[in-house]
Amino acid sequence: MQVLFIFMDGIGLGENDPAINPFARAKMPNLHALLDGRSLLKDSAPFIGEVATLLAIDPNVGVDGLPQSATGQAMLVTGKNISAELGYHYGPKPNPEVAAYLKDDTLFARFTKAGKKTALLNAYPPRYFDGIDSGKRLYSSIPLAVTNAGLKLFTHDDFITGRALSADFTGNGWRTMLGFPDSPVMEPHHAGRKLAALAMDYDFSLFEYWASDYAGHKQQMETAVGLMETFDGVLGGIEDERRKTKEQLLIVVTSDHGNMEDLSTRKHTDAMVPAFVIGEKDARSEFTREMRDLTHIAPAIWRAVIDS
Ligand SMILES: [Zn+2]
Repeated sequence: MQVLFIFMDGIGLGENDPAINPFARAKMPNLHALLDGRSLLKDSAPFIGEVATLLAIDPNVGVDGLPQSATGQAMLVTGKNISAELGYHYGPKPNPEVAAYLKDDTLFARFTKAGKKTALLNAYPPRYFDGIDSGKRLYSSIPLAVTNAGLKLFTHDDFITGRALSADFTGNGWRTMLGFPDSPVMEPHHAGRKLAALAMDYDFSLFEYWASDYAGHKQQMETAVGLMETFDGVLGGIEDERRKTKEQLLIVVTSDHGNMEDLSTRKHTDAMVPAFVIGEKDARSEFTREMRDLTHIAPAIWRAVIDS
């Protein structure tokens, strides 16, 4: 089995309240089709349908304080309860204690060692690499795990040639914010098809989406609704492409902590986060076995790739 992990920063399962929760407002027909009419809301989980499963999993992992990105993402790619071992949640970027967990025992390192093909499917702009090289920017947990595994991060060139995707899915940001006015732009549906097609080149691939956490911190309802409607188009494309894979591709969408589902606060929340899994029914059932918190995602991905 091949696994595509779509990591969405700062998305919890919140109340069905359109005043504070973009998921209660956004038009997401493709998501609704996968969840028999449900949205990504607290009351929707657990759900097991013909094509998709939605569980609520715990990002707090028994540790006081609000969950944060560095520890949350590190737990997602290692399966270890890092917040409990350290005694705190930490973020957004990893400190040396969190970074120490992101060396040999991540999904990226373990799959690479096992001879499996793996990648982070995001393309990063030149200014990102400049920031890293000059020491002004620290890797967040996921790219740190990827580079520590000896894998390369994809570049602008990879984006142009179609080996990687823009962090906003469509590529619009490369034109409007990153100074590449001639960069390609894709409709969300096309971006979703592209993402699933790229995932079929790997045993395990991950795509990282962070605009959701940013919109949550900024408390921007219209932006957040727009982002999720774009994501819905992407989901439609992913599902169209997945159907061609003869049930070879399993897709998991999850998050490191809540944030965007409650725009009444600038902070992260302690809400449960979605474990939204799309794919063949038995594979989903095996994947979601004993899935209760962030630490259960990495072992499930490992089993899906290695044992099937
Ligand atoms: Zn955040």
